Amino acid sequence: MSTTKKDIRALTKEQLRDFFVDQGDKAFRGNQVYEWLWQKSAHSFEAMTNISKETRQMLEDNFVINHIRVDTMQRSADGTIKNAVQLHDGLIVESVLIPTKTRTTACVSSQVGCSLDCRFCATARLKRMRNLNPDEIYDQVVAIDNESRLYHNRPLSNIVFMGMGEPLMNYNNVLKAIDKITSDDGLGMSPKRIVVSTSGVPKMIKKMADDEVKFKLAVSLHSAIDEVRTTIMPFNETFPLADLREALEYWYTKTKNRITYEYVVWKDINDKRKDVDALVQFCKFAPSKVNLIEYNPIDDGEFQQANSEAIDMYKNILEANNITVTIRRSRGKDIDAACGQLANKS
Ligand code: SAH
Repeated sequence: MSTTKKDIRALTKEQLRDFFVDQGDKAFRGNQVYEWLWQKSAHSFEAMTNISKETRQMLEDNFVINHIRVDTMQRSADGTIKNAVQLHDGLIVESVLIPTKTRTTACVSSQVGCSLDCRFCATARLKRMRNLNPDEIYDQVVAIDNESRLYHNRPLSNIVFMGMGEPLMNYNNVLKAIDKITSDDGLGMSPKRIVVSTSGVPKMIKKMADDEVKFKLAVSLHSAIDEVRTTIMPFNETFPLADLREALEYWYTKTKNRITYEYVVWKDINDKRKDVDALVQFCKFAPSKVNLIEYNPIDDGEFQQANSEAIDMYKNILEANNITVTIRRSRGKDIDAACGQLANKS
């Protein structure tokens, strides 16, 4: 019986208004329910206290609310929180709250597992089971916003799509979720505080530019030399650097938004002068920022973080070429919540 009921949050506000009119009720009732579903993030129809009992029952008979459930929450010594989130079909994804002095960032998942094959990433070892729906992405953000208020006495300030999955391979749902997150009917957050991180799907980067999205773009580059990048991110064979770069130029021309690159420096993989030079060449066409991310070991020592001289070399040469550099320390390592460690282990 319940399988035939529709997910009410798959309806737009207009569709919900029409539904109530079809039921002989007022369109306005649709607004009220919509507000409960999104702004108030109601988990049940029962909670909708300004809606009559009969109407709530009627909704119950027709629809379900597939709200996520935070299954386990782990807190790191550094304040980072990791949620293992259960979806309506029992699958699990993870999301992370990362507090700093000035902000609280939610790191959210866009897919269950990942279809890409980055050799250094724990999520890549999980099969991609399915895409997340917009409401499942939205719910992760709401859960973290609540935790931020509860444990850090302030609302969530930023969102990064750097959890499990490749957001640009679930583009439509990610966009719908961001629409809800940024709309006044939802959380009313500024798109400037949202970063979508991609391993680099050229066609979708161009589409984002055409769609004139207002959020920021980060690209997990890790190497600007094809042979190297293909060894660590094998899908680079399908989406080679020339195509990626062409797509990014297109993005920059249309949006005039600076591009951020995420980059881990590994011993004996990309820690030489030629690697930095290639990166400088790659970035040249637009104002760029490089985030040098600390490597979070996921296994057997096949990958090792480069030494600090190599990191300094990157920093110095990039800065000499007017490229902004930040060195990002990992957070939440003790609970496997850092970049690349999300693997549903607990
Ligand atoms: N698929 C998207 C979103 C995942 S973001 C993307 O690739 O951008 C996760 C970020 O962490 C990416 O920049 C990824 O390259 C990086 N990462 C993956 N494994 C890592 C690890 N073990 N240590 C540090 N960073 C890692």
